Amino acid sequence: MNTFNFSEVKELLSTKKRILLTSHTNPDGDALGSMLAMYHFLIQKGHDVNMVVPTPYPDFLAWMPGQEKILIYKENKEKCDPLFNDAEILFSLDYNAPARLGITTQAFKNANVIKIMIDHHIQPDLNSYNFVLSTVDTSSTSELVFEFMDKINPDLINKTIAECLYVGIMTDTGSFSYACNYEKTFRIVAELYKLGIDGVAINRLVYSTNTENRLRLLGYALSDKLRVLHKYSTAYISLTKDELVKFNFNDGDTEGLVNYALSIKGIKFAVLFTEKTNKIRLSLRSVGEFSVNKFARDHYKGGGHKNAAGGDSYLSMEKTLKKFERLLSEYSKELANN
Ligand code: 5GP
Ligand code: MN
Repeated sequence: MNTFNFSEVKELLSTKKRILLTSHTNPDGDALGSMLAMYHFLIQKGHDVNMVVPTPYPDFLAWMPGQEKILIYKENKEKCDPLFNDAEILFSLDYNAPARLGITTQAFKNANVIKIMIDHHIQPDLNSYNFVLSTVDTSSTSELVFEFMDKINPDLINKTIAECLYVGIMTDTGSFSYACNYEKTFRIVAELYKLGIDGVAINRLVYSTNTENRLRLLGYALSDKLRVLHKYSTAYISLTKDELVKFNFNDGDTEGLVNYALSIKGIKFAVLFTEKTNKIRLSLRSVGEFSVNKFARDHYKGGGHKNAAGGDSYLSMEKTLKKFERLLSEYSKELANN
């Protein structure tokens, strides 16, 4: 972990400030969990707090405490831009560089204020921030936010904050199935339970609120669109815009889909390709040493973690898949040996 000057940040937060919390494009459970927890923490300290994310978040997170106060930049630029200019402190939660804000990047860069990053992705952009709390040896940003609060004002961590943090830790570990081989993660989760959270109910709110369409899309993707290339220990699923429209696609409906491809015995590398308005979005996963972070950085202007990353392709779906299969042959040694 890099050294983070807790006492200086504590001092900064000891008097009322205008604070803007931000998280990444296509916010997930950890993005919202860490941001909302921080919101509930800072308002107790008397700060004036706003929250902005670049694009909408999925319906299965639309019950989280305080989520109705989040502004979506894409839908409300006029209201969001002044918040960047007026803030005294900006927080970046669950992302490692301003570019991960997509359409909101410029607003962030223009703001000449104190910037604090709390994140768990590799290669944080240290130059864009005054304070960086970043480590990869952690389940989630929510876990780091717990540690942050625990150092600054542990007495303020309440049940509402605990619920938000639990969503972040639970979703970023696939319900405690990866990125959680840490004793500390479970100690923190135990602390959240001590505060009275109902983990079973939270799990149901997040994972058992599928629409019929979402489940049928999953069935279609697995039966018709899954391609398995045992030669490269790779499996992928591709979904075009037309296919998504057919299943009345909503943001978040494809969340977790890539993990089905990765769950096949012998598969070490899995990708989900989804067609967006002007690009193909890649969601990449691996098990073991093959770094999808590097793969996404090198070929798709993306990044993330060693075993979970994202990126984009600006070719057609057909060309994107052709190029991808060609690339695999370049990596055949790596994919065969790890
Ligand atoms: P997902 O496939 O769930 O969208 O993303 C997987 C992981 O990669 C997440 O931790 C996410 O923050 C990160 N990630 C996704 N897209 C990008 C991207 O375009 N750039 C970078 N640097 N990280 C990404
Ligand atoms: Mn995260």
